[in-house]
Amino acid sequence: MRPSKNYKFWFCTGSQDLYGDECLRNVAEHSAKIVEHLNASKKLPFEVVLKPTLISQASIRKTFNDANTDENCAGVITWMHTFSPAKMWIMGLQEYKKPLCHLHTQFNEEIPYDTIDMDFMNENQSAHGDREYGHIVSRMGIERKIIVGHWANASVQEKLAGWMRTAIGVMESSHIRVCRFGDNMNNVAVTEGDKVEAQIKFGWEIDHYNVNDVVKYIDAVSKADVDTLLEEYYSKYVMVLDGRDEAEFRRHLAVQAQIELGMEQFLVEKDYQAVVTHFGMLGGLKQLPGLAIQRLMEKGYGFGGEGDWKTAAMVRLMKIMAEGVKDAKGTSFMEDYTYNLVPGKEGILQAHMLEVCPTVADGPVSIRVNPLSMGNREDPARLVFTSKTGRGVATSLIDVGNRFRLIINEVECKKNEKPMPNLPVATAFWTPQPNLEVGAAAWILAGGAHHTAFSYDLTVEQMDDWAQAMGIESVIIDKDTNLRNLKNELRWNSISYK
Ligand code: MN
Repeated sequence: MRPSKNYKFWFCTGSQDLYGDECLRNVAEHSAKIVEHLNASKKLPFEVVLKPTLISQASIRKTFNDANTDENCAGVITWMHTFSPAKMWIMGLQEYKKPLCHLHTQFNEEIPYDTIDMDFMNENQSAHGDREYGHIVSRMGIERKIIVGHWANASVQEKLAGWMRTAIGVMESSHIRVCRFGDNMNNVAVTEGDKVEAQIKFGWEIDHYNVNDVVKYIDAVSKADVDTLLEEYYSKYVMVLDGRDEAEFRRHLAVQAQIELGMEQFLVEKDYQAVVTHFGMLGGLKQLPGLAIQRLMEKGYGFGGEGDWKTAAMVRLMKIMAEGVKDAKGTSFMEDYTYNLVPGKEGILQAHMLEVCPTVADGPVSIRVNPLSMGNREDPARLVFTSKTGRGVATSLIDVGNRFRLIINEVECKKNEKPMPNLPVATAFWTPQPNLEVGAAAWILAGGAHHTAFSYDLTVEQMDDWAQAMGIESVIIDKDTNLRNLKNELRWNSISYK
């Protein structure tokens, strides 16, 4: 599921007319070379478009307003090649509404010691001009990403690529529509939240349907379409019968295939990118949607269990941000379920009743049909697998009453120590940074939920930048976390975000 637009980023170089035409020609030429190189680097997920050098309040204001109205422009990258008096930038910045990056770079990598003169310094003075520009952005309290270093450097390009994905998250947030089948599970606190405020802050549209509205779509799916999808299941997954009769097993799969097709049609027709279900509100559904939801997540839909619309929207958002990452390892809804507390092997077993996205799977994916103690329906079919190893990021968006807080935890995913033959659900296992003892305490102090939106393909920095750009509080839990500082941070945030 691609972003809704063919996004590009504008490259805007600042200067002024004090230095003469030759200098401005060089500035334009250098900017063109940088943009050409960045696009040729293949490191950036989106194209960079060069704009004419900005040397006056009028041109700056017009360019930023053009960026606002161009629906394919996802953000502006700014850089002051020379000195560019920052009062010229005030009106443009004030009116600009999209993600902003300050690429603090310089055309030449090294000081040309043998030839440097005053003309060279006047032409190449971003160390000077970028401070003037940065001052006004800070004074105006505008969120922006600052990336420092030479433009041809791979790590600078990777930072720029990472920020582009964050910017796509900002732009695409307002295109997320969440479909709720039923309300939140009764009495549960963490899945609640202010839907009006979520639309104000994030642009999310969060709607509600009776689950039987989708049952009509599911009932209308043809047997031929179900049979075709069943063939796909049988060709793609390993069937684990667990002693069940083969025909009965297939019939259980057919129920999920029918749910997958009917629910997808409903979501496409009504333009939803995320969906929530609740095991206690299944209406005319024969099974809790398990395999069906897992497959929809794989196609790019966000999901949250028990009516958790905040996590559903975050899963969708993170899937869009991670779209097209090279060698992507996956993004999913997860739930902190049970601990291993053995010293040296501490970690949290992640799973849900059924709904973990197969993009995170490592190795073959099985289908099993097993009883579910909750939901009062027939045994649902589900995809079963274990997940990949390596670094990931787990996020929990919570409503703390007067604001949203995004808790962002870097985690280290590991293999389950041993197989778990009696556990018929997909799992992951991770140790939170900096370790289970501090990480779990920090998560609980910050009010983090048991549901998370998780990705191997995004970083703490990207999620933190997204939260800042959306104007919400973020709390990072990583290798630098210590509880005394975290408690203070939470106290200070409660004043700062009042
Ligand atoms: Mn749950």
